[in-house]
Amino acid sequence: MDALEIMSNLDKVMPYYQPIFSADEHKIIGYEVLGRYIENGQVISLGDFFHDGDTPDDYRCEVEDVILQKALDAFTNSKKEEMLFINRHAAGLVEDYGESFLAILDTYMDKGLKYEQIVLEISEGDYSKSLDNILRYYKTLGIRLAVDHIGEVDGDIRHFAGSSPDILKVSLRALRKDAGDQSYKNIVYSLSMFARKLGASLLFETVEAEYQLQYAWKNGGRYYQGFYLAKPSPSFAEPDQLKEMLREKCSRFITYEKKALSSVYALADKIETELTSIIARSKSAQKEKLLEEIARHFDEMCFRLYICDENGFELTPNYFKKEGKWIFQPEYLDKNWSWRPYFLENIVRMNKNGGGLISDLYNDIETGETIRTFSCPINDHEYLFFDIPYEYLYDQEGLLY
Ligand code: CA
Repeated sequence: MDALEIMSNLDKVMPYYQPIFSADEHKIIGYEVLGRYIENGQVISLGDFFHDGDTPDDYRCEVEDVILQKALDAFTNSKKEEMLFINRHAAGLVEDYGESFLAILDTYMDKGLKYEQIVLEISEGDYSKSLDNILRYYKTLGIRLAVDHIGEVDGDIRHFAGSSPDILKVSLRALRKDAGDQSYKNIVYSLSMFARKLGASLLFETVEAEYQLQYAWKNGGRYYQGFYLAKPSPSFAEPDQLKEMLREKCSRFITYEKKALSSVYALADKIETELTSIIARSKSAQKEKLLEEIARHFDEMCFRLYICDENGFELTPNYFKKEGKWIFQPEYLDKNWSWRPYFLENIVRMNKNGGGLISDLYNDIETGETIRTFSCPINDHEYLFFDIPYEYLYDQEGLLY
């Protein structure tokens, strides 16, 4: 759409509201304000106008302000208690040190608007030092900060750590059921860890199918937004409209997850029981002999075995199944693994429980395959590590979930 045409018909510019649902209450906790242009009953998104690099900054700011004011009119008139998610281009905020945005909000304070109801969405790529100062100031007032388009634009979420974002917005567009894109999943996983460290919540947007909702739930998503739940609409949707549906879906996800977890723990129990009797039988045997014995018994279930001491030094070579044949790899003897994430923590946990542990799914550093590791103490100072290959996990229900 032509920018000039929009500028000369600002009365046709309208806010639409897309509901954002919460996982802890199964209700709408806020609405993202989206710009629409309405002509002859046709509703046209203003997304292109806002994202087009050719749109002059002052045009963009003016349209942003019109949408914001119309949204705040409607929001305060209907005495909404939820939050309003507002997209702003950083350039416009930086231009006047964030003052005009604040001035607009301030005119609604006597109508009951609170700063805490405002969530400012800033694109990950828009970071700058001067923006950071404005955001920090807004935060002291109570305005919340959401970092938008994470991973989609050329930006770095770590830049925002200092302005303590409340919400990280991640699109599920890249998640396709058939592709099962592992690298996307890994990025989401690290984002969820980062969000946790920052004390921020993850919001998954473009939720367009049930499996994406399940994925969002399973990956630490506290908030959800997308066509699958609710489309943008010219009025505020009823906060409890999907409460029953979300509650029901959530119980199904929980049942599924618990079933998958019990398959994982059943596998760990099976390995542990069988290992215990092998270890008891070969108590006096040499460590390498013990590894051979274990490999013979668990030929399908295992592709790498080794024993470490409590400080992570390898007491044996690796015993590795290479192209169907088990071989010793003496170069691993005496290597130290204490630097690996969770290594020492797991040793301490094994000492405390006296039993074995099974890891989450992760990619093996050498083979690149998705695997799990089972580990267990074989005596007071020695620990066996047992790597389970992808093919085995793949063949068993629930072990790759
Ligand atoms: Ca947004």
